[in-house]
Amino acid sequence: MKTSKSRRPYRIGRSRSGLGLFATQEIPKGRFIVRYTGPLLTNEQADRAENKYLFELNNRWTIDGKSRRNTARYINHSCRPNAEVYFVRHEIKIRARKKIAAGEEIAYDYGKDHWNAYIKDKGCQCPKCREKRAGERKRKRKAGARRAQGKIKAALKTVRRSARTFHGR
Ligand SMILES: [Zn+2]
Repeated sequence: MKTSKSRRPYRIGRSRSGLGLFATQEIPKGRFIVRYTGPLLTNEQADRAENKYLFELNNRWTIDGKSRRNTARYINHSCRPNAEVYFVRHEIKIRARKKIAAGEEIAYDYGKDHWNAYIKDKGCQCPKCREKRAGERKRKRKAGARRAQGKIKAALKTVRRSARTFHGR
């Protein structure tokens, strides 16, 4: 029986970091979303291949996911992911780690190595890191405001002091 809740609960769409994969309907926690597909390379071959879609399966094999037919390659990284990767034999699959609402961007954690190699320098665009940066900017603004107030107070003191000196004459 076919229902609207059948095969593809997602679409490719515009995201903060280029393209991304977005849920088109609610995806329950634990539900399989998509498979990360591509030719199987040995890890030696993968070391020579230069692309950021290489996904290491185990200590022998890597999947080269650079083909656009591999829809999973559009899934972006998040430090607060709503999806996760799991392995079934020689397959890499992605499932919901919690309930994902319709319209929400699907993201999983790429792991520290990838983050350091490809994401760190250009600034992580995930919600968690954006919130963190916004928080830092706010703190800086507040500190700046406090500094400015301090300067005004100091200036007022000087004015009062010189006024006293003037009247005292
Ligand atoms: Zn992040």
